[in-house]
Amino acid sequence: MIRHNYHTHTFRCGHAVGEDEDYVLEAIGLGMQTLGFSDHVMLEGLSQVNVRGEFSLTEDYFSSINHLKEKYKERIRILLGFEAEPFPEYFAYYDMLLKEKKIDYLILGNHCELENGRIKYFFSKATTKNDIIRYKDTLIKGMETGYFAYVAHPDYFMGGYNEFDHTCKKISEEICDASHALNIPLEFNFAAIRRGKVMINNEERYLYPHMEFWKIAAKKHCKMILGLDAHAPQELSSDKNDDGYRLAREIDIELINELENLK
Ligand SMILES: [Zn+2]
Ligand SMILES: [Zn+2]
Repeated sequence: MIRHNYHTHTFRCGHAVGEDEDYVLEAIGLGMQTLGFSDHVMLEGLSQVNVRGEFSLTEDYFSSINHLKEKYKERIRILLGFEAEPFPEYFAYYDMLLKEKKIDYLILGNHCELENGRIKYFFSKATTKNDIIRYKDTLIKGMETGYFAYVAHPDYFMGGYNEFDHTCKKISEEICDASHALNIPLEFNFAAIRRGKVMINNEERYLYPHMEFWKIAAKKHCKMILGLDAHAPQELSSDKNDDGYRLAREIDIELINELENLK
């Protein structure tokens, strides 16, 4: 069981459900000590229906989570954060959010790519070597900014890619080298585990995590953190998370339970 979960969404992104308070009550019921909300970052000038909330929802998100933080402070530590893409166009905004302590932390989720302020590409659809190399390049640039407490689902590029080939091995090594050098933990993500295995290229597997990636992460002495990536309150307690706990235990890697230095 996980005591500290930093990857929790809210209904504002359009593809999560439940009231914010229901996530908190579920976490308290489970005996969790930390519940970090990290909804998909809402960005000025970037409207992506059902991917992230409109920028205008930001204040509502802040006030709701801050209210819950105060209301339940005797029972659980609630944190306010965002899951954010490494969009250079928004680095100044991320910097401000952290410096002015509007939020407690950011996690780095490299879901898509921007070009001229518009979404150009979703990495969940990455099928070519070129696609996943760009995934790696933009991810590492994000890691180097120092804004991010950890990398969410670093092996996300395997969600669309057929098999773990030489290019996958190469980019995984680079991501893991960066993680080690910059001391940024990598998240073992539970969202696609709860969805179950799928047939890809005659192989039955989860979209992610991909165990070949984690073998490399272990070999490179990276740090791993578990992230439930809940999009509904019950996903915090789902039986399907047991498959994730079991799989994570097979990896011989340093497991981080709690993030230090948040605020
Ligand atoms: Zn989501
Ligand atoms: Zn994500």
